[in-house]
Amino acid sequence: MEKIYDVIIIGSGPAGLSAGLYSARAKMSTLILEKEKSGGQIGTTNEVANYPGSIENATGPGLTARMVAQAEEFGSERKKDKIVEVDFSDKIKIVKGEKEEYKAKSVIIATGATPRLMGVPGEKELTGKGISYCATCDADFFTDLEVFVIGGGDSAVEEAIYLTKFARKVIIVHRRDELRAAKSIQEKAFKNKKIDFIWNTAIEEIKGDGIVEGIVFKNRETGEITEHVADEEDGTFGIFPFIGYLPLGDIFKEKIDMDKAGYILTDADMKTNVAGVFAAGDIRQKSLRQVVTAVSDGAIAAVQAEKYIENTFDE
Ligand code: NDP
Repeated sequence: MEKIYDVIIIGSGPAGLSAGLYSARAKMSTLILEKEKSGGQIGTTNEVANYPGSIENATGPGLTARMVAQAEEFGSERKKDKIVEVDFSDKIKIVKGEKEEYKAKSVIIATGATPRLMGVPGEKELTGKGISYCATCDADFFTDLEVFVIGGGDSAVEEAIYLTKFARKVIIVHRRDELRAAKSIQEKAFKNKKIDFIWNTAIEEIKGDGIVEGIVFKNRETGEITEHVADEEDGTFGIFPFIGYLPLGDIFKEKIDMDKAGYILTDADMKTNVAGVFAAGDIRQKSLRQVVTAVSDGAIAAVQAEKYIENTFDE
């Protein structure tokens, strides 16, 4: 007979792995479905310095590996499958992947978010050819070169600081005249001699033939257009946009209530508007998207899923 899990968790970032740990530890049959690899966004983060207790070996992949081991230790199953469709209309929920179809009494959505693109000409064509959204993954390619970091939030400024370990010069380009990043992070960046700033500036275009060779700026106050071209000896430079994130919830549209931006609406118990379907982590509408809030969401969702199953299904 086809297996019906107690809990299916879609996504294996910190929220999904924490939900898996709590769910399996409560002796519920638990399946964690992951698209590519575990960890979600922290899988590409060099340092998770603000997760309580993560002082030594605080890399994203290190933390992820420990979370995966812990979820499995308690009996969570994991499968790699890209989920393409869900049917939450009946008591037994159906989750369809590219490879298989899965069934469960409850579902926890923990699909997270993805970097927002700049949406300018040249961006798509030159991604991976000078444009990167992951400093940890690609900083090394820009050793002794110039690098532009786009954005003024925590990610932009922290990653800019990290990039100074590799690049000759890091230039933060921000659309306003003050940073959004936490003051403590700003102070570090202002002190760093390798970091310069370009204020009130938007990106208009990225140029290059197979590799980044130029970037076109527009001053938002004066309207002036300028272009930076690669140093002749270097031939190229790096561009790292960190301008926020987008929720990964397209497959749940019209099935689950979301806000205008596409973040899933839940109550404090992680319940969505559909009974038996919960959401946890960055995919939720919330005020702080951090590992510490994601793992907390995951734990709450799993405990609530257990309560829901107890109250809804007769053994
Ligand atoms: P944020 O949304 O905080 O910042 C995005 C930045 O990009 C802003 O400066 C914004 O400008 C700028 N921006 C947005 N859209 C565009 C655009 N189209 N063109 C140019 N610039 C644009 O995103 P982050 O990724 O930095 O952070 C996300 C969340 O994660 C936050 O809550 C943050 O605090 C948290 N975080 C915390 C870290 C830590 O504490 N160690 C590390 C990394 C992230 P503007 O300021 O004008 O809106």
